[in-house]
Amino acid sequence: MPTNRYDKILVINSGSSSLKFMLFSMRAETMLAKGLVERIGAPSANLAYQRNGEAKTDEAISADNHGQALEMACAMLAHPERGVLKNLSEVNAIGHRVVHGGEQFRDSMSIDENVKKGINDCAALAPLHNPPNMGGIVACEKVFPGIPNVAVFDTAFHQTMEPHAFLYAIPYKYYEQYRIRKYGFHGTSHKFVMQATAAWLNKPVEELKLITCHLGNGSSIAAINGGRVVDTTMGMTPLPGLVMGSRCGDLDPAVVLFLARQGMTPDAIDDLLNKRSGLRGVGGLESGDMRDIVDAAAKGNTSAASALKMFGHRAALYIGGYFTLLGGADAIVLTGGIGENSAAARAAIVERLTALGCHLDPARNAETRGRAGAITQDTSRVPVLIMPTNEELMIARETFRVLTSPAQPVTNATA
Ligand code: AMP
Repeated sequence: MPTNRYDKILVINSGSSSLKFMLFSMRAETMLAKGLVERIGAPSANLAYQRNGEAKTDEAISADNHGQALEMACAMLAHPERGVLKNLSEVNAIGHRVVHGGEQFRDSMSIDENVKKGINDCAALAPLHNPPNMGGIVACEKVFPGIPNVAVFDTAFHQTMEPHAFLYAIPYKYYEQYRIRKYGFHGTSHKFVMQATAAWLNKPVEELKLITCHLGNGSSIAAINGGRVVDTTMGMTPLPGLVMGSRCGDLDPAVVLFLARQGMTPDAIDDLLNKRSGLRGVGGLESGDMRDIVDAAAKGNTSAASALKMFGHRAALYIGGYFTLLGGADAIVLTGGIGENSAAARAAIVERLTALGCHLDPARNAETRGRAGAITQDTSRVPVLIMPTNEELMIARETFRVLTSPAQPVTNATA
């Protein structure tokens, strides 16, 4: 269990122009402080910072690159009045969110030159994410020399899928040549929620069949049998599967060809399917925020109502399919901004699950917000549970686990 050696763990989520940070004390898994540097590289960079239990502050800063952003964040963490550290040397380890680990990384990894090379090799699969993730790692190596860094991959938890689940039905040579296959994302959240649900049900993970639904701006569902992912809705990229805030989810691939033949460029189609579709595209509100969709639907906006129905229909379709693949489920678990908070969106899903023996309890659904609890009636054959996710804490836990494990986790190269 937690020791002083790795008590203070800094979690870094480094995006193209942002750097999110959170500092934990692992003794009691306490979040000490968190913050976000935004608009890195722009003249108007901003540092938002919050000490646990205090109000958030914002200030304009100068940060031309991720290294400078990290230095500003660290200056705040060790600030004489507003900080939580006397000295930066109190940080014992750093955990990094890395979006794509390809097939190479089946587990979180202590970062060395080989792992960095592997992350760079996976950049072709996540060109918008892996390079800035690496930027965060390199910045930490400079600011915290000698402190261990651990990479926690969004894809790793899904690496237990078998070929019949992860291959696409196209000739095998495209998998061999380009590694075109389903990888899945949000793995850190699905794993956290799986563990939290096991603790809630007071059963070991190994004995549970779970369908975990991460429903936020990006959404995905995973079918998990005994701790192993059997299938998940996202694919080679985070575009397929559910109807998301601005992503289309599942789509006949011939639609892409059709649009290309109408003269749309690959970039224009990319923009359409990733940024202007989903709830945003269907609802017609210029917003993919579920709150706006629900409000507009309640006021009689038929496009918004249609978007909400489509969201529930698509999610129920996958939950039913995964229920079949798993041969039943001990619980269906909802998390993420929508799963944890939106009673209307949850109702749109659960009302479609009566054939599985899930019967919504409207009062429980209305009052359960941002906390764990069942939203189905006690007589339901399968409970639908709300379980708040905490991806940053999971990254800190993974970092601690990797650094205190006697053996290094395996990659596919060594498995
Ligand atoms: P996430 O990406 O997990 O932060 O989730 C963002 C989504 O959660 C957005 O669609 C929000 O509308 C939704 N959401 C967040 N808070 C609430 C809330 N209090 N009520 C309803 N939906 C919410």
